[in-house]
Amino acid sequence: MKHFDVIVVGGGHAGTEAAHAAARVGVRTALVTMRRADIGVMSCNPAIGGLGKGHLVREIDALDGVMGRAADRAGIQFRLLNRRKGPAVQGPRAQADRKLYRQAMGELTEAQPNLEVIEGEVTDLILCDGRVAGITLADSSEITAGAVILTTGTFLNGIMHIGDQRAAGGRVGDAPSIRLAQRLKDLEPRLARLKTGTPPRLDGRTINWDILESQPGDEDPVLFSFLNRKPYARQISCGITHTNEATHEVIRTNLQRSAMYGGHIEGVGPRYCPSIEDKVVRFADKSSHQVFLEPEGLDDYTVYPNGISTSLPLEVQEAYVRSIRGLEAVTILQAGYAIEYDFVDPRALTQTLELQAQPGLFLAGQINGTTGYEEAAAQGLVAGLNAAHQVLGQETVTFSRTNSYIGVMIDDLVTRGVSEPYRMFTSRAEFRLALRADNADQRLTPMGVAAGCVGEERRVAFEEKIEALAAGRALLDSLVLTPKQANERGLRVNQDGTKRSAFELLSFPEIDFATITAALPELEAVSAEVAEQLSREALYANYITRQQQDVEAMRRDEHWEIPADFDYDALPGLSKELRGKFARAKPQTLAQAGRVDGATPAALALILAHLRQQK
Ligand code: FAD
Repeated sequence: MKHFDVIVVGGGHAGTEAAHAAARVGVRTALVTMRRADIGVMSCNPAIGGLGKGHLVREIDALDGVMGRAADRAGIQFRLLNRRKGPAVQGPRAQADRKLYRQAMGELTEAQPNLEVIEGEVTDLILCDGRVAGITLADSSEITAGAVILTTGTFLNGIMHIGDQRAAGGRVGDAPSIRLAQRLKDLEPRLARLKTGTPPRLDGRTINWDILESQPGDEDPVLFSFLNRKPYARQISCGITHTNEATHEVIRTNLQRSAMYGGHIEGVGPRYCPSIEDKVVRFADKSSHQVFLEPEGLDDYTVYPNGISTSLPLEVQEAYVRSIRGLEAVTILQAGYAIEYDFVDPRALTQTLELQAQPGLFLAGQINGTTGYEEAAAQGLVAGLNAAHQVLGQETVTFSRTNSYIGVMIDDLVTRGVSEPYRMFTSRAEFRLALRADNADQRLTPMGVAAGCVGEERRVAFEEKIEALAAGRALLDSLVLTPKQANERGLRVNQDGTKRSAFELLSFPEIDFATITAALPELEAVSAEVAEQLSREALYANYITRQQQDVEAMRRDEHWEIPADFDYDALPGLSKELRGKFARAKPQTLAQAGRVDGATPAALALILAHLRQQK
């Protein structure tokens, strides 16, 4: 019988990142997945990143994960979203060539030491002395391990819907995972259903591109990985078109034939990624919705029409798609469909993504109620790191709302749970001015080095960068001007008698690095990259200083750990309702308790007093 330290089940976005993270830490890792060739498959849109999601990819990269590097190799159109807004809410995004992404992920996986890929369907878990100790495959063979990570995506009891037709499947072309779903239900009864959908795929050769608006990528592409500077692949443009009244009329007339509206689906769908049926119903006053026509690859004529996912019957899909400008004669290559699947209430997990009720079993990705490749990969990394650390007997690695979007997501999931598929937004992060995509490495790479998941190449590149930033910052701090001197050099500042360093002057929105260098030529020695980073830091420095108190308060509360068996009934001052809520949510820290629905300062003070007594 084979034995590994960590087994990861599922080679999707969560699974690959989990397997790589565990292997980077140095433990023997097996990635068991239905088909080796499917590693790196994108079930839905051929794109990585975006608002909030781009932050997650940068954070994964800062911890030496693989998603950013694969996306850079496969990117055929890079765009920094929200470019005109402040750096805190800018999100790197790349449209990816599906084939190149798969190839890149396959090669990175092949090259990763300590990592073996095994093909097969996992049908059961081996339990031993109250711990998960391995897996059983469909051919009845068994593999043992110190820890197991499940990342089965949309496959658990997956059912696909097109109109009133339904078929069992994990995604188009793949069988569902039914026996494993049953086993999981036995271990953790808090399973429920969610749904998501995908649009029809179009034949690009039948699109009238000549009459459509075209959207090129950025002239100066911003990549995901801190190790990369420019795209690998040829860059292309996308097309833009719009739905219209005729499109909406077709959809309205056939609404009851949609799987979603015809009552065939019980799962809840993503509110922020609505189907075209949802858009027409929920935004009834809008007569048009934008549709991006995204080529799926450089040598692939398949086009992904972003914005019109559906579960209507094929003939209705054809009718509404052909009512759209430029798509009048389009051929549908694959029908859009909706998929329903089981997920585990993430409140059943710890912050390391281990199932509370089942030591040694970690869950990551869509199985935890999230949607999106980036959310899945970020969870995979957390689970992979922690499974490896557990096997090695090392400390857990947890992320905080104060240091990362990863921390925000995990905390949201395990504290609040989900009522619809969870996706990341910048608005979820209360400390977003400090948690920018551009400084993910400064926030997290040292943590990754300490956790043993950052390789030598990145560590050295990071240290060099930090040295250059420190030297640039020291120079900016050393150049100080009085308001009068500033004005004489063309820098408009208040004549309030306050001397300001060049760094402080850079915090004025109207003073950029070029302006300040014209006034202080000593700054010509600073490289463009360092100048750009220091400008961003200066811009937010005042706000971040003001936020520091809140950050400190949250960190203090995070240090107060609440034992899993904490008896809320022993706090008579707590209302019955709150006692029930805390007992169900099982917050692991005082900070988490504060985010439980209905938690009051008085309730937290009671818990804190009790924790102090127990110390
Ligand atoms: P997946 O990428 O699904 O990977 C799961 C992997 O596990 C697969 O490789 C599978 O073969 C393997 N596996 C499953 N069961 C077993 C088993 N028993 N044994 C061995 N291997 C197993 N995201 C969005 O952000 N927006 C959208 O609009 C959107 N629409 C979607 C529409 C559809 C139809 C689908 C299918 C997905 C959609 N997604 C969307 C979700 C996105 O694809 C997922 O969030 C993401 O792929 C989740 O990653 P994952 O690693 O959790 O799972």
